[in-house]
Amino acid sequence: MTGGLRFSWELRGSGWAACRIADGRAERTDIVSYCTDALSDLLHAVAGLYGAADSQRVSFDLEPAEVRWRLRRRGTDVEIIIYQFPDTFTSWNAPDDEGTRCWHSTQPRSTLGHVVTEAAEAVLRTHGEAGYLEKWGQHSFPSAALDNLRRLHQRDDACRHENCQVSADS
Ligand SMILES: [Zn+2]
Repeated sequence: MTGGLRFSWELRGSGWAACRIADGRAERTDIVSYCTDALSDLLHAVAGLYGAADSQRVSFDLEPAEVRWRLRRRGTDVEIIIYQFPDTFTSWNAPDDEGTRCWHSTQPRSTLGHVVTEAAEAVLRTHGEAGYLEKWGQHSFPSAALDNLRRLHQRDDACRHENCQVSADS
């Protein structure tokens, strides 16, 4: 159903999260810090792929490295490229091609929207809002961003996964 794309977001200890993405070919894991509202930023970036803009970027602070996801729409697909820069402090505004391209995949938007929504829901199931805030520290669980992405995915992707069927009374 998800075309081999897998994504997970796992809180680790205090103020860190393991962000893992894999397709049938390669896997990438980054340990992301709470210096940014990282999960919220990712949910907003993926949700942006349902609007008029053709490309979205989201940066994660690895202290000190920066990892940047560039998401670009290609018809009904999304090209995902992950770049790494040695130092967030100096690279924040650097062009993508100054970074090292370390993972890429092209996937249907419906698949990306699905796996990111499910991963965020799993975080909420595991920790709850209070547990999330306790672990992540600076930022609350991005419930509004998750609701928004779920709504766009259900509305526009015709996802056949049972959790994504819009019930008649909603
Ligand atoms: Zn779905």
